[in-house]
Amino acid sequence: MKYTDEFRDPVAAKGLLDQIATVVDQIGATADSPVHIMEICGGHTHAIFRYGLDKLTPPGIEFIHGPGCPVCVLPMSRVDECVQLAEDPRVIFTTFGDAMRVPGTRKSLMQAKAEGADIRMVYSPLDALELARRNPDREVVFFGLGFETTTPSTALSIQAAAREGLGNFSVFCNHITVPPPIKVLLDDPHMILDGFVGPGHVSMVIGTHPYDFIAQDYGKPIVVAGFEPLDLLQSVLMVLEQIRDGRAEVENQYARIVPEHGNPVSLAAIADVYEPRPSFEWRGLGEIDASGLRIRDRYARFDAEVKFGIGYAAGPRVVQEPEGCECGAVMTGRMKPVQCPQFGTGCTPEMPLGALMVSSEGACAAYYQYGGARAAEPAT
Ligand code: SF4
Repeated sequence: MKYTDEFRDPVAAKGLLDQIATVVDQIGATADSPVHIMEICGGHTHAIFRYGLDKLTPPGIEFIHGPGCPVCVLPMSRVDECVQLAEDPRVIFTTFGDAMRVPGTRKSLMQAKAEGADIRMVYSPLDALELARRNPDREVVFFGLGFETTTPSTALSIQAAAREGLGNFSVFCNHITVPPPIKVLLDDPHMILDGFVGPGHVSMVIGTHPYDFIAQDYGKPIVVAGFEPLDLLQSVLMVLEQIRDGRAEVENQYARIVPEHGNPVSLAAIADVYEPRPSFEWRGLGEIDASGLRIRDRYARFDAEVKFGIGYAAGPRVVQEPEGCECGAVMTGRMKPVQCPQFGTGCTPEMPLGALMVSSEGACAAYYQYGGARAAEPAT
């Protein structure tokens, strides 16, 4: 397959792995004293396990799985609010499929649907917009979820609704941004990270400059990466070379997709529709300043929080994680999924306790799906 096979070539992969091993030796990293590289994006976490890159790379590299899975970092309070909206008999609640099974304190959207709530899975906010056109007597709410990758399409749907004067369409906005949580991780006094593999899809929208602070203020290298095995291996090599050479720069391995200054059309739509929230709650990380987006006042009639008086519009609300759930520790790199006592027993993809087991981009789901579950089994 053209444009995919080229990035999965085993001979080229072997060459990159040899170069990685050489640089790891030059740095002096070992299994006991590894280089810690965080892949920020859940898509990268999935690819690392899918292609076995964690096992192919030398033991002197330890991958830390970052907070870049929007389903995984969604706090339970927001899931509860989704359920509350979905159970309103006036509402058709629309969502991407991967949010259906995330547990709330009472139930997931999947359970609410089984109990009769009108919840429909869509592939795009434009599908939700179409539902609103076809159901003028119902309130259609779209669950806006995701990083800068999905933020523009939600913005475009709101702009379209405004142009058409659609009064029965609104968005429950949970869009979040990548740089603020990275800053939180870097400010953590227990921080052990030596470098980052940066998100490819997010950077396609925002470009590479929003990461300048990582190199300039914290002296850490970051390489924006693609999602194929050779992309990731080359990016890891580029991070390691920076560490060996004492450099800290923002480099772009994914230049075939990621423009330095991002996508101007998407950025304009984002700027028109949203503004930063003062703070937003992240599962495992708590409230982070300016890390979430809210809908600007001029589009307030399309803001489900305003329309239905829920969420931040109803005031602050803190919800405890379920007992025994270590999602926060896993997401901040303090614990491996297999070290969570619930992994593979109290928490499986079929019966998830925490969000990291729900999404295919969650670190626990990736460990479970690609063999990490075996690592959790006691030796016999
Ligand atoms: S195994 Fe389940 S409860 Fe434990 S950290 Fe992973 S998702 Fe959370």
